[in-house]
Amino acid sequence: MALTNAQYDTILRGYEQTQDRNRHLLEERRREVYDAVPGYRDLDASVGSVSVAAAKKLFDGDASAAKRLKEELAQNREKRAALLTRAGFPADYLDPIYTCPHCQDTGFVFSADGSRQKCRCFKRQELSLRYAQSNIQEMITQENFSTLSYDYYQGEDLKHFRAAVRLSRDFTENFKESYRNLFFYGTVGTGKSFLSGCIAFELLKAGYSVVYFSAAGLFEQLARYAFDPKAKDALTDICEDLYECDLLIIDDLGTEITNSFVSSQLFSCLNERDLRRKSMIISTNLSLEELRDRYSDRVFSRITSNFSLCRLTGPDIRICKKRHAR
Ligand SMILES: [Zn+2]
Repeated sequence: MALTNAQYDTILRGYEQTQDRNRHLLEERRREVYDAVPGYRDLDASVGSVSVAAAKKLFDGDASAAKRLKEELAQNREKRAALLTRAGFPADYLDPIYTCPHCQDTGFVFSADGSRQKCRCFKRQELSLRYAQSNIQEMITQENFSTLSYDYYQGEDLKHFRAAVRLSRDFTENFKESYRNLFFYGTVGTGKSFLSGCIAFELLKAGYSVVYFSAAGLFEQLARYAFDPKAKDALTDICEDLYECDLLIIDDLGTEITNSFVSSQLFSCLNERDLRRKSMIISTNLSLEELRDRYSDRVFSRITSNFSLCRLTGPDIRICKKRHAR
């Protein structure tokens, strides 16, 4: 799945905005330093005039001018750093600011052989555009933590839902520090996919790569590639994306036609991601007994031992909402 031109442009525009933002920030810092550190502005200005003078000398045939310029600039740099630190600023306070130091916010890096390649920050955005936003775009723009409502739950159901929301928020807030997996299970329409969507929304906003699949869609695509000898590269690519993305969400597990292929692919996902300490969210309408009967023992034991199990109960909210709307 390649990016569309519009998606590609969106990513590139994002880099331009980042560059602008960081340039402004640096200008603000510079003004701040000029106001707070006497003599700094003059040193800054002399960099330009010294270089111009040296260029002129070089042009007039003074070959040692370049060496002297280098020395003078180094001294100037040292003086400026000393002024900064003496005034309580970090020595690198006025160095260029990059959100991604690898590509300096251009989206591209050059490999050893000189060829231009997408930076990992570019690839991360690409992944999210291809698999997450395209699959859940509509849901996450309408349903996220800010539109969350407890109105449809009562009693025990409400208690379960509150616990699930707490768990989801906790998962999102501590995503960077802790490796954790969530398993939402319970009857249809109790908010499982909704919570997965809320988490996806927050993490996408924070710049993580999120890959989202319905179980039926995922295993159908894997089967199509796996049984087509011409699609070997496509299979390798998608597996790499599944194993490497920051968060993998498999929604509605059990709605696919489950067979030994599905079971083994699911186990590979669980296993590979566990080895790489990468989080997963699975949601399902199956009960734990049904899960055990339907998939292999090793899938069942992986999920029950590595995931926080979170049960949701109650009436089907989608039906309640429709009734409410009428
Ligand atoms: Zn980068």
